[in-house]
Amino acid sequence: MLNQIKIQKTTTPKQKPDQNNLGFGKHFTDHMFIMDYSKDKGWHDARIVPYGPLEIDPATMVLHYGQAIFEGLKAYRTADGRILLFRPEKNMERINKSNDRMCIPPIDVDFGVEAIKTLVSLDKDWIPTVEGTSLYIRPFIIATDPYLGVKPADTYKFIIIMSPSGAYYSTGINPVKIYVENKYVRAVRGGTGFAKTPGNYAASLKAQGIAHDKGYEQVLWLDGVEMKYVEEVGSMNVFFKINGEVITPSLDGSILPGITRESVIQLLKHWNIPVTERKLGIQELYDAYKEGRLEEAFGTGTAAVISPIGELNWNDHVMTINNGEIGELATRIYNTITGIQSGKIQDEFGWTTEVK
Ligand SMILES: *Cc1c(COP(=O)(O)O)cnc(C)c1O
Repeated sequence: MLNQIKIQKTTTPKQKPDQNNLGFGKHFTDHMFIMDYSKDKGWHDARIVPYGPLEIDPATMVLHYGQAIFEGLKAYRTADGRILLFRPEKNMERINKSNDRMCIPPIDVDFGVEAIKTLVSLDKDWIPTVEGTSLYIRPFIIATDPYLGVKPADTYKFIIIMSPSGAYYSTGINPVKIYVENKYVRAVRGGTGFAKTPGNYAASLKAQGIAHDKGYEQVLWLDGVEMKYVEEVGSMNVFFKINGEVITPSLDGSILPGITRESVIQLLKHWNIPVTERKLGIQELYDAYKEGRLEEAFGTGTAAVISPIGELNWNDHVMTINNGEIGELATRIYNTITGIQSGKIQDEFGWTTEVK
C-alpha cells in the first residue's frame, strides 16, 4: 500500500451554503478522496481531487449487483475552534467487517482514519459552526470492473465525500411515532444485516413508505425468521428501559453494530445503570407496556445520536411511551454524547480525535 496522499486542490472553490438551512446530504465540499484497488497493486493511488462526477462504464459491476459498502460519521467544530471526530477508527474497523461480508478487500484502518483527517483538514472551512450542525463524512467502496458476470470484482474504488449538515433537532427533540412492521423484514440471519451495504437500505424503502402513509415516521423491524423479536428502528439501533433496566437487542448478525449503540452501552455501565443485550420479544415489550413497566424507548445512530420513541403501533396495539415525551435517561445520554462530540464536556472515554 502506498501511504501517501497526493492532493490536487480545486481552482474554483464553491460558495458555502447558508448554515441555517443546510438540511442533510444536499451540499458537498470542494474536495473528495479516492483510492483504487486492483489485484496486482492492492490499494493504490490515494489522492484528494476536486469534488466532481465519476465517469463509469455502464457495465460497472456495482450498478448491477450492488457489491458496495458505506460508512457515516461526523466532524464537529468546538466552541473554541477545534475540530473533533467521534471514534473514527470504529468506522474503519466496521468498513472491514462490511468488506469481508461483501467480498471486498480490506483497507488499512489507520490509513483510512488518516485519509478522513487529511480531507477534513483541507475542507475545514466547510464545517458549520451553528449549534448542532456538523460535517457529515461518507466513506464508501464500489466494485468497478466493467463486467456482467456475477462474481466478486477485481477492481474497486474507495471514495470519501463530505456534506455540511444541519442540526438534527433544530426545533427541539420531538419523540417519533413508530410503526412495528409486520409484513416486510430488513435482514435475516446469515444475510447482510450487520453490514452497511446499499441493498439493505433499498430493501427497507417499501415498508418505510407504507409506514409514512399511515402517519408514522419510522418502522420498528422485527426478526426475519419468526417476526417475534425486536431488531432495529429505521436505520438506528433501539433501546428500551423496562423497570429500571435498559435492554437492547443482542448482535446476532441481522443487526447493524452501531457505534452510538456501543457508546450508549459503555455510558450506562459507567453510570451503573443495568444494561442487557438480549433477544427482546415484541409480545414481552407489549406486556411490559400494559403492566406500566415500559419507561422509555429510543433509537441510536450517528445522525440523531438519540431519537426518543413516543409511540409504537404493533398490529393496532398503540403504546404511548412516557406520555409521548423524551425521557430522563434519553436526555442524559443525549446531552453527554453531544457534549463530548462538541467539546463542551470533557471526554473521559478517549472517544474523540482532533483534526489539525
Ligand atoms: C448506521 C446504522 C446504524 C447506526 O450506527 P452508528 O454507528 O451508531 O451510526 C444502525 N442501524 C443501521 C441499519 C445503520 O445503517
